[in-house]
Amino acid sequence: MLRIIAQRLRALCRDTDTVARWGGDEFVLLLEDVGGQDGAATAATKVVDALTQDIVLDESFGHIVLPCAGSVGVVMAPQDGTDLDALLSKANMAMYRAKAQPQACFQFWSNDINTRLHERLALEMDLRQALRENLFVLHYQPQFSLYGQQMVGLEALMRWQRTPDQLVMPHGFIQVAEECGLIVDMGAWAVLHAARQVALWLRAGLKPVPIAVNISARQCLNRDLVQVVRLALQETGIPPHLLRLEITETTAMSDADQVIGLLHEIRALGVRLAVDDFGTGYSSLAYLKRFPIDELKIDRSFVSDIATDKDNAAIVRATIALAHGLGLQVVAEGVETEAQSRFLADQHCDTVQGYLFGRPQPVDIVTQWL
Ligand code: C2E
Ligand code: MG
Ligand code: MG
Repeated sequence: MLRIIAQRLRALCRDTDTVARWGGDEFVLLLEDVGGQDGAATAATKVVDALTQDIVLDESFGHIVLPCAGSVGVVMAPQDGTDLDALLSKANMAMYRAKAQPQACFQFWSNDINTRLHERLALEMDLRQALRENLFVLHYQPQFSLYGQQMVGLEALMRWQRTPDQLVMPHGFIQVAEECGLIVDMGAWAVLHAARQVALWLRAGLKPVPIAVNISARQCLNRDLVQVVRLALQETGIPPHLLRLEITETTAMSDADQVIGLLHEIRALGVRLAVDDFGTGYSSLAYLKRFPIDELKIDRSFVSDIATDKDNAAIVRATIALAHGLGLQVVAEGVETEAQSRFLADQHCDTVQGYLFGRPQPVDIVTQWL
């Protein structure tokens, strides 16, 4: 594959240009007198095109077709610098930006990329420090049963106490934590912390309801998760049914066979499982049936206008029927109005969660609820 790509790249270049394999799956092209930004863009487009054609390995490999794609980062000398290492590192940054785009493409280096990269690195370092210094906190949002009208669960939602008066919400850090891998440790912290909180409530003589902890994609594809859950249960001695895990639909389906195995191991520990944000990704029903899950959580985006939007109402109705048909409980997320709640009750939705019933709150308020 590397040799075929090298040939394609060489075919694009003039004798005065240089093509080098830089290691792994990275190539460097040095184009002289490329004709300014426009010329460079044309060249980069040709490279991307050359990289996105399937590779057919010949007979001796049994006619294998390998889909192929590539991303290109472009730097211009002398405008972007003249130091070789600096130029290569800028091209590399631009290449990673291009890689982050949904479609194979190319990207020129710009100061903007530099700034964003530095901000990201700074955020990453702050997150590492926050984990070391225990600056994450869990808030808890109640889940209510529509029949008994009582609190039947809590969802643990992470916040970052960045400074004494700055509380950062998940959208400000989860994605970066996921990208740099820190989410695995943060998620382990959340599982253990939630279990310890349940233990504290039990010791205080309260009757805690089950707590659901969100599990990220990275964490779910990491086999340590089983061990994390096992150790949290061992250390705290809480009944396992008081701990639940939520994985998103997209995660569950991303590597369904592997996830099924992992979920079975966790389920065997007595911990219940929910599929989060259901309806925002796509589910294979064949897999859904094989997942050892207990609960589907219908995403907020469908619930928000069930009272007015016929399509979303139909989707919610069908999802509830599907879940019940598979023997699963249904939780509707993001319930904000009486009308939504009534609709869900009419459709026999089991559980509701949303601002109408309670916002995520810090532990002392939740202790009073209990
Ligand atoms: P999620 O698991 O789907 O959590 C529900 C989100 O919807 C929460 O936002 C919650 O505050 C919000 N919400 C609940 N009811 C309502 C409502 O009635 N109206 C509106 N507008 N919003 C409502 P939050 O706390 O900002 O969390 C966002 C996402 O961050 C979560 O979505 C989850 O995917 C992720 N997250 C939070 N904590 C953790 C964690 O410990 N680990 C991981 N991996 N992800 C987490
Ligand atoms: Mg959730
Ligand atoms: Mg959700």
